[in-house]
Amino acid sequence: MPTSSSSELRLPERPETPDVAGAYPRLTDEQIMLLSRFGTRRRVAKHALLFCEGDRDCDFFVVLDGTVAVVHETDGEPMLIAVHGPGRFLGDVSLLTNQTVYSTAVAQQDVEVLAVPVGSLEEAVSEDPDLGDLILRAFTLRRSLQSGVGAGLRIIGSRFSGDSRRLRDFVSRNRIPHRWIDLEEDGEAEGILRRLDIPPEQTPVVIWKGRNVLRNPSNDDLARVIGLRALPARAAHDMAVIGAGPAGLAAAVYGASEGLSTVVVDAVATGGQAATSTQIENYLGFPAGISGAELADRAVVQARKFGASFSVPGEARSLGLVDGYNVVRLEDGEELTAHAVILAMGVRYRRLEVPGLDRLEPASVYYAATENEARLCRGDPVTIVGGGNSAGQAAVFLARQAAAVNLVILHENLYRDMSRYLADRVSRTPRVHIWRNYEVSELVGSAKLAAVVIRNLVSGEMRPLETTALFVLIGSMPHTAWLQGQIPLDDKGFVRTGSTRDGMFETGRPGVFAVGDVRSGSVKRVASAVGEGAIAVRQIHDFLAAAGRR
Ligand SMILES: Cc1cc2nc3c(=O)[nH]c(=O)nc-3n(C[C@H](O)[C@H](O)[C@H](O)COP(=O)(O)OP(=O)(O)OC[C@H]3O[C@@H](n4cnc5c(N)ncnc54)[C@H](O)[C@@H]3O)c2cc1C
Repeated sequence: MPTSSSSELRLPERPETPDVAGAYPRLTDEQIMLLSRFGTRRRVAKHALLFCEGDRDCDFFVVLDGTVAVVHETDGEPMLIAVHGPGRFLGDVSLLTNQTVYSTAVAQQDVEVLAVPVGSLEEAVSEDPDLGDLILRAFTLRRSLQSGVGAGLRIIGSRFSGDSRRLRDFVSRNRIPHRWIDLEEDGEAEGILRRLDIPPEQTPVVIWKGRNVLRNPSNDDLARVIGLRALPARAAHDMAVIGAGPAGLAAAVYGASEGLSTVVVDAVATGGQAATSTQIENYLGFPAGISGAELADRAVVQARKFGASFSVPGEARSLGLVDGYNVVRLEDGEELTAHAVILAMGVRYRRLEVPGLDRLEPASVYYAATENEARLCRGDPVTIVGGGNSAGQAAVFLARQAAAVNLVILHENLYRDMSRYLADRVSRTPRVHIWRNYEVSELVGSAKLAAVVIRNLVSGEMRPLETTALFVLIGSMPHTAWLQGQIPLDDKGFVRTGSTRDGMFETGRPGVFAVGDVRSGSVKRVASAVGEGAIAVRQIHDFLAAAGRR
């Protein structure tokens, strides 16, 4: 039986874990020599902790001698994640994004490690970019392995509760490792609640560091605990970026790397829509595709490296002008003051207007198809509405785990709104059934979805399709309701740009620029959003120079 105190944890010794697909690489002697210049050697006694779940600002540790176990703390036996021997390093992507770590590292014998402060690690990898890439790749892979084994936070609640759904969406959009424990379906739930003395009516709860309980926290409270919410105290930033999708992230990388003090807020999570894409296959330089989540994590690390700060959730609610500065007021009343503002709020999904949607939406209707949603409907029949690329990607992805995938499109031709390569793939995927010329006309079920009724738009024929989850991927509208009357918008609500001397991305208001999907006339692609974010920074330099502020 393991015993733990605040500084040590006694566990049975385990052998080193084999490297899984590059998640646990061993550094070469040359790489360790390079890192040695930036760190210090340290001896750590058997059973002592190198870092604990919940810590922030941890060093980057390389094991030099002996082995270190990385575990997830629970209210019972700690769960082993991996054991690392000489030449392997500890940590995950939280180390680079200044969030809390989701694991605990304990010396299995008296060990020797190299401890490198994260700031110095950034210097070291600038001398050896291959080393930087190896570490970043391993860190992002570890995040998905942690999620796969159920490490990280635990959320216990009813799948029919709106707050459970909110918390699950928030942690999965933020790529926080977590395990969802369903009150109705998971036998373990009752035992955990009893041991932690939580009455079921106080769920959903988030369990943190094995035994710390947050009772139905707001997204904001949870974000503060895990280090996502962190607005820097500064009188005025050079540039405030509203929205951390590809456009906002690109603006942050280019702005910060060119010396602008840059703060980025996002209402939900970094990565925007792109982070909900399982595989982006048309982004330059990634012939095998890249998951949107990995692209987002890489961009956040890159922007932070140049000094940009991030705060999530931070929803912009109004834009004002005080003493010549732009002032963005956030949902919680905090204000960001900046010389220039980049609006990069992208678009949000459209809902279906059909009977049954309001009732069944919290439990069974989804607007993205990520690992999180796929896990919830593994082995079940699912239905997707939509004929664009998002729907096509979702169909191919969900077909790997769902019992059957119904794809409902309003017209005859799958190739009309979907890229050819994707439509070919959808047509070749055996478990996908395409319902052409149909619409979803009703959702059926009491607490959870049992079927959708589809209607043939040519013959009027109605038929039920057994389904436990409905994915609505039917397009989007801009996130600009909060800007009505404050800057010029087009008739669909997209931000108009290009009418002033400061360039094609400036809005009707000096110092306020708009980029990416939210901009009127933009091309809705990751690459174009990134390009716009980068170009807008050039225009901000011109604006600041003309205003005598740089
Ligand atoms: C499932 C899916 C798959 C896709 N696949 C591809 C693909 O393979 N290739 C491709 O090129 N494109 C793809 N796209 C499209 C691509 O993701 C978008 O064009 C791109 O993400 C747009 O970037 P953006 O930064 O302009 O906006 P978004 O990605 O929409 O990001 C906007 C961000 O702003 C935040 N925000 C909104 N309002 C506020 C506010 N008031 N305050 C603070 N923050 C706010 C949002 O939370 C969001 O994070 C896909 C889209 C989806 C949904």
